[in-house]
Amino acid sequence: MGLAASAHGSIDTLKSPSTSTLIVTRRVHFNAAHRLHNPELSDAENRRLFGLCNNANFHGHNYELDVSVEGTIDPTTGYVVDLGVIKRLVEERVTSKLDHRNLNLDVLELAGTIPTTENLAVAIWRMLNGALPGRLKKIVLWETPRNCVEYDGR
Ligand SMILES: [Zn+2]
Repeated sequence: MGLAASAHGSIDTLKSPSTSTLIVTRRVHFNAAHRLHNPELSDAENRRLFGLCNNANFHGHNYELDVSVEGTIDPTTGYVVDLGVIKRLVEERVTSKLDHRNLNLDVLELAGTIPTTENLAVAIWRMLNGALPGRLKKIVLWETPRNCVEYDGR
């Protein structure tokens, strides 16, 4: 045992984990409808800018949201944060407001904005910042498996 431990050289590090800063992430899913449309522009200009996403009768996306918090390891639990707590708070503060909703019509936090992934990411950050254990580090909002927006509050 002693030989194996010294060969790996990790025993001292594991005895004092609280100095290490780690980022832990919970992924949640929701789906929602939206229309990208700027009422200050003509219909033709909106079609040119937003293409299919300007469809008058809305369209839907299956969003994935990665919520990352940063902290040190609690020596009592070995966790940075309890991801079950993160799951519950993200459901309360974000997915319960967005899932199966129309982002143009149903979500107070998006009123007056064009509900792009960018604007939605900023709104989600505001719903979560200061409300989670640990320090909210970053969110990544996936609108499709190929398109995502990252936001860290700046
Ligand atoms: Zn869209």
